[in-house]
Amino acid sequence: MIKEIADAKLDDGSILCRHTIEVYCPSCSRDVDEAELAAKKCNDCGFDLSTPEQHVAIVVANLSSGGATL
Ligand SMILES: [Zn+2]
Repeated sequence: MIKEIADAKLDDGSILCRHTIEVYCPSCSRDVDEAELAAKKCNDCGFDLSTPEQHVAIVVANLSSGGATL
């Protein structure tokens, strides 16, 4: 399962960039869907998914920095 988290402005004023979270079974490494996650059990291997493996992938947005040089 890939969850996409949209841009969000946090209470402290900082911006949370758009990113995706991929959820996998830690045992068989298969993609976990929402129903499996809700049941906390992998349909493929029966592994307990109360602590699934999550990979966060940052989607790099346009950083309009105005051509800054390092
Ligand atoms: Zn599994």
